[in-house]
Amino acid sequence: MNFEMPDGARRILQTLNSAGFEAYLVGGCVRDLLRGVEPHDWDICTSARPEETEHCFAGHRMIETGLKHGTVTVLEEGEPCEITTYRTEGPYSDSRRPDYVEFVSSLESDLARRDFTMNAIALGLDGGLRDPFGGGDDIRARLIRCVGEPVQRFQEDGLRVMRALRFGAVFGYEIEEQTAQAIHENHHMLEHVAAERINVELCKLLVGSKAGEILRQYPDVLCEFWPELGPLVTLEQNNPWHCWGGWEHTIHTVEAAPPDLVLRLTMLLHDIGKPACKSTDENGIDHFYGHPAISVKLADQMLRELKFDNKTRERVVTLVEHHDVQIPNRDRSIRKWLGRLGPETFFHLLEVKRADGMGQAYELVKDRLAELEKMKTKAEEIVAQGQCFSLKDLAVNGRDVIAAGVAPGPEVGRMLNGVLGQVLDGLVPNNREELLLLITDKQPNQSN
Ligand code: ATP
Ligand code: MG
Repeated sequence: MNFEMPDGARRILQTLNSAGFEAYLVGGCVRDLLRGVEPHDWDICTSARPEETEHCFAGHRMIETGLKHGTVTVLEEGEPCEITTYRTEGPYSDSRRPDYVEFVSSLESDLARRDFTMNAIALGLDGGLRDPFGGGDDIRARLIRCVGEPVQRFQEDGLRVMRALRFGAVFGYEIEEQTAQAIHENHHMLEHVAAERINVELCKLLVGSKAGEILRQYPDVLCEFWPELGPLVTLEQNNPWHCWGGWEHTIHTVEAAPPDLVLRLTMLLHDIGKPACKSTDENGIDHFYGHPAISVKLADQMLRELKFDNKTRERVVTLVEHHDVQIPNRDRSIRKWLGRLGPETFFHLLEVKRADGMGQAYELVKDRLAELEKMKTKAEEIVAQGQCFSLKDLAVNGRDVIAAGVAPGPEVGRMLNGVLGQVLDGLVPNNREELLLLITDKQPNQSN
């Protein structure tokens, strides 16, 4: 088979080979070539020791930050290319990082330390694959399988649990049976993994095309770092609106949301407060009054614990807070909500509501879903027409109010908001002359 190798990577392999060293493309890039997907970076492994690699590329720009682990980064036409000496890893006494790395002379030992068979394939300049663990077959069978003994591999490094789930969600590959079983039995190893590293994998997982399937099969793994999910996973909802329990509903909403991190996180967490709010009426129907407020508290706390950045956290929390608000499908309500949330959040909220509806009994919500579509079209028109829906769109500003005789201070804002309310309600047009008249009329102590 002939693989497209970029010139830069080819030159690096040639340089190392002609200095008498073995060198191969390895890891994600080889896997992606075999999957027929364009690799996003090119990693190389070599029999050359780091200092020998540096010697080969004297005159090139190099980054030495990975030297301790045997990695020299060479810049080829500005593109960083990581060259790593064949190595094995020592024991993981803290389950985070290997205690030490040991350079080895055989490619096969280097491949053996890698996590999954699909990531343990090397490709040489001759176009030949070195694939001692059957990674090529697993890629063709769309299987994620540990290299070696799965239990041992997850016990060495708990992050591999999340990597397996992430690859499953993104590629839509099945996790091979023994690997899957070892995940279910060893996810407690995540307890030793830094929140930031779990975060990175979770974010990739959630925007994967098969995220829902992974959530369905591995709620136990998610509960390891977010135990707050536990009660939602087992939540029953005996309510005519709901044809599923809490977890299956959540999964359907995640699947129905576009592959955007904020939206997917919102769907994952929007009902997290439901278990704490559950009540059952005399007819045996379950209710969850006030759950969005509890969801907000829990979601905020969970996102902080997993070290999400403030912006992502705030956006998710705002959407969770409003996921259940009723927005009447009238221009004035739409303008009000556009103004209150800002267009970006407003349109996100419509996506959230749509996804939430997709996770409910379809016959009962299909009219509501159709209404949401109409509301979206209307809101797009309002924005496209440049209609006024916030103070900054208003044809008058604070200076006008002060010029009309209002003393600078909080009254200025109150006056402007009053005027905005009238414009939103369609009582006055957003026209400077008319609004100036309105402001002047409202002044109690005008002399004329
Ligand atoms: P991506 O496409 O996300 O970059 P990747 O497989 O290249 O996927 P990297 O984190 O870039 O992931 O790692 C490069 C290679 O290093 C992997 O293909 C794998 O062979 C090996 N590797 C990475 N993380 C681990 C780990 N935790 N345990 C064992 N091997 C690992
Ligand atoms: Mg990579």
